[in-house]
Amino acid sequence: MTRDIPRLLQAIADDVRPLLDQGDVASYIPALARVPRRQFGIAVATVGGEVYGAGDSERRFSIQSLSKMYALALALQREGDALWQRVGREPSGTPFNSLVQLERERGVPRNPFVNAGALVVTDVLCRRYLQPERAVLELIHRLLGDTTVSIDAEVARSERAHSDRNAAIAHFMRSFGNLHGDVGAVLDAYCAQCAVAMSCSELARASLFLAADGVQPRGARVVDALAARRIGALMLTCGAYDASGDLAWRIGLPIKTGVGGGIVALVPGRLCVCAWAPGLDANGNSIAAAAAIERFAAAIGASIFAGEPSRD
Ligand code: GLN
Repeated sequence: MTRDIPRLLQAIADDVRPLLDQGDVASYIPALARVPRRQFGIAVATVGGEVYGAGDSERRFSIQSLSKMYALALALQREGDALWQRVGREPSGTPFNSLVQLERERGVPRNPFVNAGALVVTDVLCRRYLQPERAVLELIHRLLGDTTVSIDAEVARSERAHSDRNAAIAHFMRSFGNLHGDVGAVLDAYCAQCAVAMSCSELARASLFLAADGVQPRGARVVDALAARRIGALMLTCGAYDASGDLAWRIGLPIKTGVGGGIVALVPGRLCVCAWAPGLDANGNSIAAAAAIERFAAAIGASIFAGEPSRD
């Protein structure tokens, strides 16, 4: 099967080209509004160590909410299950930057992938590390065995200068006692973590531990097996915000999306695939990247719901 992956990825890159004119780039972060829309990359990394790509699979882009996978892994590593007293595990059914549930639910975010939940995760990291965004970056370096990935300072500054909504979310949670640190410091770290720039092939490789029971192939254990499986469960149910149900239905895999246009999907025990195209739908998910991953998962029969009938 792996022999055919390069050809499949190229066919997918050709197929999704007409979709690259659709959607809008994330203009609420001015530095991202300047990213040209007609770009596409896709890469696959297998637990066996192979990496394949097509299109702009080596071009770095803003990982944005894809960073929430790594920040959550780090927070669970340091905090363990105590984290779940401050963050829920339910899909939100609301946009990623919504405030509406927080008042009714007394400042406890629905899950760690909506912005409110990610800000609580960052608050945890702020208490554990002097430079929490460096801790996330260093985890990525360890996962890749390479220290060239960095934070795009201009994107970080641009988001931080326009972070009124995330600031409102953070202050609101603080009023309920669910954000312990300084709001400004949490926002600095959160915006910097979102501004990490990585390519599809780097994201596919760095996410392998989530498809391999918490152990990075040829590397160290990152989180225990149960934590890795649970992050996967959250990606399936909450990884694409209020489109999570629809994308679980279309793709059948744990995924995480980001407004930089990247989507990472896990095929547990086998591989990770990352696709990228900057044009976003109304939920902030990349149109062409979602279509590409849907096509890839169908072609290799990767849905986690696929199963041979048992013989016994
Ligand atoms: N940094 C972005 C924000 O907080 C991340 C959102 C996303 O990628 N969905 O708005």
